[in-house]
Amino acid sequence: MYSFLDQDITYLKGVGQARAQILASELDIHTIGDLLHHFPFRHEDRTHVYRIAEIHEGMQNIQLRGRIIDISIVGEGPKRRLMANFTDGTGIVTLIWFRSLKTFEKICKIGVTYQIFGEPKAFKNTFSIAHPEMEVMETVQNRPLLRMQPVYHLTEKLTGRGITSKVINQLVANAFEKIAKIPETLSQDIVNAHGLVSHEQAIRDIHFSQSAEDVNNARRRLKFEELFYLQLSILQYAKSRQTATEGWPFPRVGEKFNGFYNNVLPFNLTEAQKNVIREIHADLKSGRQMNRLLQGDVGSGKTIVAALVALLAIDNGFQACIMAPTEILAEQHYRGLCEQMRQIGVNVALLTGNVKGKRRRETLEELKNGNIQILVGTHALIEPGVEFHNLGLAVIDEQHRFGVKQRAQLWTKNSRPPHVLVMTATPIPRTLAMTVYGDLDVSVINELPPGRKPITTRHYASRQYERIRQGVEAELHRGRQVYIVYPLIKENEKLDLKALEEGFEETQRRFPQWKVGMVHGKMKPAEKDAAMKAFADNETQILVSTTVIEVGVNVPNASVMIVENAERFGLAQLHQLRGRVGRGAEQSYCILVTKDQLAENTHERMQILVETNDGFRIAEADLRFRGPGDLEGTAQSGLPLELKIASLVGDSVMMSEAREAAQRIIDADPEQKLPQYRILWTRLQQLKANQANYSDIS
Ligand code: ADP
Ligand code: MG
Repeated sequence: MYSFLDQDITYLKGVGQARAQILASELDIHTIGDLLHHFPFRHEDRTHVYRIAEIHEGMQNIQLRGRIIDISIVGEGPKRRLMANFTDGTGIVTLIWFRSLKTFEKICKIGVTYQIFGEPKAFKNTFSIAHPEMEVMETVQNRPLLRMQPVYHLTEKLTGRGITSKVINQLVANAFEKIAKIPETLSQDIVNAHGLVSHEQAIRDIHFSQSAEDVNNARRRLKFEELFYLQLSILQYAKSRQTATEGWPFPRVGEKFNGFYNNVLPFNLTEAQKNVIREIHADLKSGRQMNRLLQGDVGSGKTIVAALVALLAIDNGFQACIMAPTEILAEQHYRGLCEQMRQIGVNVALLTGNVKGKRRRETLEELKNGNIQILVGTHALIEPGVEFHNLGLAVIDEQHRFGVKQRAQLWTKNSRPPHVLVMTATPIPRTLAMTVYGDLDVSVINELPPGRKPITTRHYASRQYERIRQGVEAELHRGRQVYIVYPLIKENEKLDLKALEEGFEETQRRFPQWKVGMVHGKMKPAEKDAAMKAFADNETQILVSTTVIEVGVNVPNASVMIVENAERFGLAQLHQLRGRVGRGAEQSYCILVTKDQLAENTHERMQILVETNDGFRIAEADLRFRGPGDLEGTAQSGLPLELKIASLVGDSVMMSEAREAAQRIIDADPEQKLPQYRILWTRLQQLKANQANYSDIS
């Protein structure tokens, strides 16, 4: 039925081997179906042609029609540019080109009527448009006008090879020429009940439409469809767990747990920690598999809860594993646990991508024969080659990337799935939690250990660095240590790394009496470890780093966290970073340094951190200021199906609607037998299969 859409993309007019390759590598487009599902992320409304007299400041891209009245090349060297005055009779704008001057000079003809498109910028007393899109009016009139012009996600490599939004759209048009019909993908009752346009209509309109309303309807339909299948697959997981999953019963509280509790634990647990352990223990005794989310703000003491719960597993004859998001964090957990567990004779091992060769073979061997009782590591733990003797519990620390899909992978590690405890310091909004952690029970640690002094947070502009330096000097003289964090944003790793290295040198100059270390993600693991260890051992007093230290790192003697370019971080992320200090009994400080010139909002955003230490308030504010961007990315990677057009956070209302619709189907057709719903179950299988293929490759 879907045969045409499954055809290789080279089948299309306009796609040869070279293009096929680049479409595959840059956009993951392999088939004609993939191309049709490469949706534009926005549309430019070309319905309106403005008059030059109407132009005002702050306008986005607009269309104008008029003639060029004069052209000249002005300036010297790098300032050379081509300028053309353009009029429609109501005023004049200046068109400017900074590159390919000769080419554009030839193209621009005085007296010819053009339709142009671009963003007007105030320039002296008039407006100018740099590098406008231009078309001769005659050709505009002769082609069928696509009023809502799609804008597709592209990469530099694609545009470099001349593959623009127009080209993508043309390829889609070529595909449509050959398509007889695109089959419906939802059952008719759902389409009707939610007032949706057909799948075919939606695909057509998202690529080719004449009105904003058509585009909206198309988007709504496509989003709903995505969210519906996402919910259908999540609810299916949840259902299969409820009905089928027996868990290993851990009734005993034995020697190891008690030994640790009475002799090793260096402090009294908070009431909140005790409650949570009771809740977890009730789950573990029940005979049903536990799937629990443990939320607790940064520093609330989740690690010790994990350790105690692991000992419950061991007391009942099982192994436990603890999984961390980064190698640094895994190694830190490992070191902490080794030290504590040695005292009660529990064997802890580490498994990360770094553990190689002989050591890896030995670890795997001892894991299989049961000598290792607690395995600490990264994602390497759930790889297929890792076999446990008798895994009873998996603790997953600080991983929003670890959703339904990855947990399912854990289930294969024993004849019954292990109990799962997911720990996070990031409070996530409820609708999102239902989707990402749809089938988890929730426990909360809502108090911090006693005696913590709230961290004092200050916001400074970078020109105030001398004041910061003096404060830091004072802390260093008291014997404390200092983190200095720089942002690292993927898109521009090179520049960021440069900023970090300069920051490192600058710090050495500013604090000549002290030893300065540096860590970043591009270092070799062994170098990273050495730098972290030197800091933990107070051999270096200042650690300059990127956000690799963001989550969970614990050096109690560090009392100052300086965040450079703080404006580039999200609030939740800053809160996490701040949580790296204030871990001892000393007064700690978080210093947010921003550029001297502040963008809108920055002051207000920083002020929230200055005012509160409450993780929930901060997460809410973060969502309000930044929109769902970051949360979206991390949360998405835990989903069983990827979202291309719908947003986890932005479309939360539709998400609820889709969830109800999916629940109705599961209730109405529990055996997946009703003919009217066959279309849904088949489609779900297809989507899961596709997803599996691609995620396996990457
Ligand atoms: P998080 O919840 O952010 O993972 P950690 O588990 O790293 O927090 O704990 C932060 C610090 O608090 C650690 O140094 C830990 O030893 C300490 N801690 C945990 N629980 C208590 C407690 N009940 N009393 C005193 N200190 C505690
Ligand atoms: Mg932690």
